[in-house]
Amino acid sequence: SPALLWFRQDLRLADNPALHAVAGRPVLPVFVLDDEAAGVWAPGGAARWWLRQSLAALGAELAMRGAPLLLARGRAEIVIPALAGSIGATEVLAGRLYEPWARERDRRIAEALAAAGRRLRLCTSAVLREPAKVMSGSGKPYAVYTPFAKAVAALGEPDAPLPGPERLQPVAAPPPGETLGELGLYPVPGEPDWAAAFGTLWTPGEAGAQARLARFLSGPVAGYGAQRNDPGMEGTSGLSPHLRWGEISPRQVWHAVRRAQPGDLSVSWPFLSEILWREFSYHLLWHRPEMPERALRERFTGFPWQPDAALLRAWQHGRTGYPIVDAGMRQLWRLGWMHNRVRMIAASVLVKHLLQPWQAGAAWFWDTLVDADLASNSASWQWVAGSGSDAAPYFRIFNPVLQGEKFDPAGRYVRRFLPELARLPDRWLHRPWEAPEAVLRGAGVTLGRDYPRPVVGPAEGRQRALAAFAALGGGA
Ligand code: FAD
Repeated sequence: SPALLWFRQDLRLADNPALHAVAGRPVLPVFVLDDEAAGVWAPGGAARWWLRQSLAALGAELAMRGAPLLLARGRAEIVIPALAGSIGATEVLAGRLYEPWARERDRRIAEALAAAGRRLRLCTSAVLREPAKVMSGSGKPYAVYTPFAKAVAALGEPDAPLPGPERLQPVAAPPPGETLGELGLYPVPGEPDWAAAFGTLWTPGEAGAQARLARFLSGPVAGYGAQRNDPGMEGTSGLSPHLRWGEISPRQVWHAVRRAQPGDLSVSWPFLSEILWREFSYHLLWHRPEMPERALRERFTGFPWQPDAALLRAWQHGRTGYPIVDAGMRQLWRLGWMHNRVRMIAASVLVKHLLQPWQAGAAWFWDTLVDADLASNSASWQWVAGSGSDAAPYFRIFNPVLQGEKFDPAGRYVRRFLPELARLPDRWLHRPWEAPEAVLRGAGVTLGRDYPRPVVGPAEGRQRALAAFAALGGGA
């Protein structure tokens, strides 16, 4: 009997267990843009740019195989049972989602389908292991990364990826859908296109994901352990938005890396352990669904933030006066992505030096990152803020000047995104406010006009952060 194949965050044909499970049956592939159920966690601007391109790519691949993608917008709770009814599907198949709002919605949809004698079948598609199945010896979820990663590694290699289908059998009379333009993704006609430069870096879609993986395997993977912290070079995979939309599965990435670097797991561990950080974030989100909104460590719920719209705006616009932070925020705005090392520094300055709540930073990232992912974003922000379940101790405060000098010593990164500082000598590049007047003049920089002084000075920022922490009662 026919099946409804509901694409959500697994926009690929290869290694797609839901798609694999409908082999031999007539199938109607569908995507529903359901902003209402997602609420504040509906995809942000950058993610909507990505999604539009990715759906175009997926639609073309599905059409070529004989079963075009139906697009719909509205409440999936209504759309999905209605579509299942209209084609007489006994099963609706999808990849499992881990966001609290999506879990709640799936529960209601499963009920509605069951009432009509149909079934919602959720397959493991976005993670290597179901978070509910990775438990400690005492049967509890993990709260700390290292034992979690060890436990996942001890389960052995993930299963081999599934092949994609050659042909698909369409349902006899597919109902009409909407066009991609009608979904109201990004850019919005008549509005400025903030994503104009994204296409210079990214090719959304399954083929783009495979190309990105091949590029990583043919170069950066070999030096990943040493170069992953250098934001001025291409030292990482750039796979995050592809993984976020499921254009490639973590197990495809895992096996491809293992093939490229055969032998002991330890050779690829620096990279694979990052895939497991993603996995750990999903584990946390599943077991601690409050993570996107509330501190995981109870004592941080009363943290004395000092919300300040002007400071938040300075950070968002890359005008904090700390070059490494500002370069990162401009990279984010221009390309929809920021290097991990710089994400950590920028986030730390926001929550510590500027004392802005991590939720405000996470919300900005949500809107501007093409890889904005509820699990990884909220877990990472809580990690930086010290409130996560396995967070950096709060009192370890990144110094944005020393971090810049350590990880961007030749200034390749800062000069790329802050051309106004390009002529400053390396020695002053990460601390322009300390540069002698003559040096600034020689570099054509007038502080306060071409580039701001720090909105909160480094020593003052550190003091503010420590005082706020002391007000909580101190201690680790
Ligand atoms: P690589 O170094 O090539 O790593 C490979 C993959 O591992 C990544 O694609 C990603 O899926 C995963 N990964 C790597 N580091 C982490 C990490 N620390 N936590 C979870 N997964 C990781 N990542 C997101 O995917 N979405 C987010 O919304 C997000 N928000 C973040 C917010 C902050 C404040 C910080 C500090 C980090 C955030 N990260 C997020 C994690 C990390 O910065 C990105 O995954 C990484 O920079 C993506 O680049 P890459 O694909 O080249 O990574």
